[in-house]
Amino acid sequence: MKKRKCLIAGNWKMHKTPQESVNEALKLVSMLDEKDFEKYDIMIAPPFTSLSLVSESIKNKNIALGAQNIYFEAQGAYTGEISAQMVKACGCTHVILGHSERRQIFNETDDFINMKISSAISAGLIPVLCIGETKSERNSNKTLNVLDKQVQNGLKAISVSTGNELVIAYEPVWAIGTGETASPEQVEEAHFNIRKLIEKIYNKNVADNIKILYGGSVKSGNAKELLSLENVDGALVGGASLRAEDFTGIIKA
Ligand code: PEP
Repeated sequence: MKKRKCLIAGNWKMHKTPQESVNEALKLVSMLDEKDFEKYDIMIAPPFTSLSLVSESIKNKNIALGAQNIYFEAQGAYTGEISAQMVKACGCTHVILGHSERRQIFNETDDFINMKISSAISAGLIPVLCIGETKSERNSNKTLNVLDKQVQNGLKAISVSTGNELVIAYEPVWAIGTGETASPEQVEEAHFNIRKLIEKIYNKNVADNIKILYGGSVKSGNAKELLSLENVDGALVGGASLRAEDFTGIIKA
């Protein structure tokens, strides 16, 4: 029996209009039952434009709502940006930060992500800090160093007291949207090391409580094996979270 309750989180990326998002969220609600919620915490992260409507449609349904990004300032002349306070007011409890698509396509650095984590926690949101190595970093045996650096820099001066204020998602870049999944040994090694580092930065209690999710081509066929690993406390799911049938397939696996 796991110490930590697993979180299954769906990242819808830039998919679905508000109405399509509501339809999918309602379908998800109809496909989940009490047993699923006993076993898992469930979160979905639709695009910004769908947050308010989806929030209304999943009210009192045990499904948490996440944003996919924020800017670190609360308000101001930052055309096109959205703050932690704004997504919180739309019903979000979580925010995905440092996703590899943000790091690679939008050049987000560890320092920038660190400022957003600080802002999210101050606003009462739970950041899901995404970290992961590229294929060439793995091939040159740099994986654990890369992960250490992303955790250390991402959490610089972030105070955490219980470990429930924050979630970490290990997402090897080469496994995202590729159909290629890290092996159970690779996943457990990374998660074990992340938890050890969290113990070093904070303390054992925080390390024991913090949820460390795996992400990268998770689907119903591989979820059971990955989720049963000792240091894996859930999954961050991209492609397979877009259809309620696939997402619930993972949850029920
Ligand atoms: C992701 O984008 O966080 C992700 C894990 O995507 P996928 O499940 O499609 O690999």
